[in-house]
Amino acid sequence: MQIKVITVSDNERKSKPEDESALRFGELFTDHMFLMSWNDKEGWQDAQIKKFEPLQLSPAAIVLHYANEIFEGLKAYKTPENHIILFRPRKNFERLNNSAERMVLPQVDIDFVLKALKKLILIEKDWVPSSPGTSLYIRPTMIGVDPFIGVRPPSQVLFFIILSPVGPYFPDGFKPVNILVETKYVRAVGEGGTGDAKCGGNYAGSLKASTLAKKKGYAQVLWLDSKKKYVEEVGTMNMVFVFEDEVVTAPLDGSILPGITRDSILTICRDWGYNVSERKLTITEVVKGIKNGTLIEAFGCGTAAIITPTGSLNYKNNDYVINNGEIGGLTQKLYDYLTGIQYGLIPDEYEWTERVI
Ligand SMILES: *Cc1c(COP(=O)(O)O)cnc(C)c1O
Repeated sequence: MQIKVITVSDNERKSKPEDESALRFGELFTDHMFLMSWNDKEGWQDAQIKKFEPLQLSPAAIVLHYANEIFEGLKAYKTPENHIILFRPRKNFERLNNSAERMVLPQVDIDFVLKALKKLILIEKDWVPSSPGTSLYIRPTMIGVDPFIGVRPPSQVLFFIILSPVGPYFPDGFKPVNILVETKYVRAVGEGGTGDAKCGGNYAGSLKASTLAKKKGYAQVLWLDSKKKYVEEVGTMNMVFVFEDEVVTAPLDGSILPGITRDSILTICRDWGYNVSERKLTITEVVKGIKNGTLIEAFGCGTAAIITPTGSLNYKNNDYVINNGEIGGLTQKLYDYLTGIQYGLIPDEYEWTERVI
């Protein structure tokens, strides 16, 4: 399939941010987007790069009623040599296809969408920020658009990619945050649910808990499983607990979003000689570990914030402070190493990065 390119005229271009250090997360979008459509008779068609502008949808469009939506999130980074690199982009499109499978949406051709993404970034290369902590956030999205108010798999679908120059996810920078262990609401229901799909509805359903937590002064919630026994994720990140003799994260059992940052961190920790377990971990075990000093670090991990150290957990109205509320040694080392690879500051021994230019 050819990709038709219609660039906007110079006077239609938005002005680039003057002060990159003031960039927030996800507020600003570039001049162009990639778009293609699908229907169940002809498959994918009309691949194009065009102006970033509002979509035209019927108010009956199926996504607006039943949330037939999946998305991805990855980043392009500017290196000191002014190359633009992507971090494990194929993994994101593989995961998009897994989410599509779960939500009865069509599969994309990974080579093709990666080519389209690179073409789009090349056109928007001046939008990739270069100040420390900044990057170009990439949001591939797929929605069902049939103008039909009945519950059935979409027969008309749109796939698009939009780009957003972003600053650090947490404006205060890399520092520990306080987390509320959520004991009423759950994010996912375990095997058979949609917890392992990056589908919009999961996030709408999570906002009640995070809103209440923020009101109480916590940055995010730590999700437990549907029986409120095992730890799962933190906000929209995977969660890692560092014990004296073991690095533990929840297993990919259907409830957990299989994070690419998670996978990268587990790989690095194993290579660094840590005893890494993907296993069920009870909140009781976590609290006990903090109390007796065997749990020494905890952090969330995901593309948006990369690594977010946990300063304390509040469980059933008790605050449990981890590592005196300071960034742990392994947490800091992982952050430096992973962001070093992502920004092209250190050798990429894993061949995780892919150059756009
Ligand atoms: C996207 C996401 C993650 C992190 O995945 P990455 O591939 O590392 O960005 C973790 N949990 C949830 C719920 C997510 O949506």
